[in-house]
Amino acid sequence: MSKPVLVVGAGPVGLTMAAELARYGIPVRVIDRLPTRTTQSRALAVWPRTLELLEAAGCADAFIAAGLRANAVSIHAGNRTLARIPFGTIVSSFNYLLMIPQSETERLLADHLRTFGHLVERETELTDFVNGDNGVSCTLLHAGGRIETLDAAWLIGCDGAHSFVRRKLGLAFEGDTLSTGFVIADVHVAGLAIPPDEPAIFWHPDGAVMFFPISRGRYRIIADLGSVPLHMPDLGEMQRLVELRGPGGLILSDPVWLSDFGVNERKVRDYRTGRVFLAGDAAHIHSPAGGQGMNMGMQDAFNLAWKLALVERQEASPSLLDSYSVERSAVARQILSDSSRMTRIVLLKHHLAQRVRNFLVKQAFRLPVMRRAAANRLSGILIDYPDSPLNVGSARGLRGPQPGQRLIARQSSGQGDLPRFILVARGSAEARAMIARHTSLLMHEVSKPPDENGIWLVRPDGYVVAVAKRGNWTVINQTLNKIAAQHQRK
Ligand SMILES: Cc1cc2nc3c(=O)[nH]c(=O)nc-3n(C[C@H](O)[C@H](O)[C@H](O)COP(=O)(O)OP(=O)(O)OC[C@H]3O[C@@H](n4cnc5c(N)ncnc54)[C@H](O)[C@@H]3O)c2cc1C
Repeated sequence: MSKPVLVVGAGPVGLTMAAELARYGIPVRVIDRLPTRTTQSRALAVWPRTLELLEAAGCADAFIAAGLRANAVSIHAGNRTLARIPFGTIVSSFNYLLMIPQSETERLLADHLRTFGHLVERETELTDFVNGDNGVSCTLLHAGGRIETLDAAWLIGCDGAHSFVRRKLGLAFEGDTLSTGFVIADVHVAGLAIPPDEPAIFWHPDGAVMFFPISRGRYRIIADLGSVPLHMPDLGEMQRLVELRGPGGLILSDPVWLSDFGVNERKVRDYRTGRVFLAGDAAHIHSPAGGQGMNMGMQDAFNLAWKLALVERQEASPSLLDSYSVERSAVARQILSDSSRMTRIVLLKHHLAQRVRNFLVKQAFRLPVMRRAAANRLSGILIDYPDSPLNVGSARGLRGPQPGQRLIARQSSGQGDLPRFILVARGSAEARAMIARHTSLLMHEVSKPPDENGIWLVRPDGYVVAVAKRGNWTVINQTLNKIAAQHQRK
């Protein structure tokens, strides 16, 4: 039997990674040192791009059934609404934000993983590894002290912000720590005159207080602490913050989680060292503003899994794996910069600057184009890979996406199926010949193109890898040859 891939960490990212590899029929083990998964609500936001990828993986319905659809987010100053950004204009079949506690996300992903016959191996800790040319020798410490040496094909560190894998590789986690801390509470809220499924942000000269719906009447509340040092809040303190900064007349009760947190904005430069990869919080952390952290991590997993599966099944050249770090590191740079900007806007302290901010936000979001742009950006559907080393060709003169941009086409999701590229083109003898030539890499049917004059080659994760004008099949053939393993080249 071939060596397994070892996924370290069964948070949302490790679970996504393990489930995707299992779906593609790759031997995988996923371990976590904790005896049970988190019971904290932590990441609440699942954005449309993540839902699209969960749908391709075959498990979006369970998420949608368990979550709460938020149709807009609004920003207020006292009882004045400065902006309301509806999500209905998001260009996706999922045109809303799904609010679902991270504990539920992890439960659903573990259930999905189980459908492929895999369980998380709990109370199992990675304590050491040696990154070799042909595999990674991993030392695992099991409950009760048993030590196991595992010869893994690849090691994927999804082991969170304090990643052992990252530290052992000696990779710098470059960036800053913000001086301001935050308090957080999951509580029942009475008296909030905002649609019950809508996140709402209130700006006040002293700071911000934000409400994120979890279920009917229950909200996650986050407030910044200004110059007050980090400390565990109690319900009374949360009530006082809400009274001062919120719309007034709210009553908080029944807290199930009270905590504080600081904000780090950090990332590693390279997500890969030899046979070891990093994904999720192990590779990047940032402010929760915009609710992107878990989404970005899960999308790291979707990006890497199909590449690793094709390389492990010897259908693609190992050089395919080099694109993972280039693509995902660029996305993290962009999201860190966006969330840092949002956090600094929220934390503005100077009263004049706050008044200018409030005025500009009110004017800007009067414009439908600004509301649409903000919603689509938050949704993740604009994430693209313009600088991917895989990209070939151009869509200049065609109506349709460029290489690196997203294009939703029919995708395979059967268990044990290889990930497949999709030809998006007019059905023709040449298209059929291309499928016959690259039968293990391509889906066996073409999808309807956005422009009849073009051919798009779409990756298994829904991003365009090559575009050519109609009839120019050489570009598509060369792209597939470049991706294919040496022995497959035609
Ligand atoms: C208060 C708060 C609010 C947040 N809100 C949002 C939000 O709204 N939207 C969003 O997208 N993100 C949000 N986030 C961020 C989100 O929680 C993280 O991005 C997410 O948990 C990262 O997932 P992960 O799988 O990379 O790491 P983690 O969830 O940290 O999982 C890592 C796992 O690895 C295990 N592990 C570590 N070391 C080892 C080892 N050596 N051996 C075995 N197992 C190991 C740990 O036990 C853990 O289970 C929030 C975070 C916080 C704290």
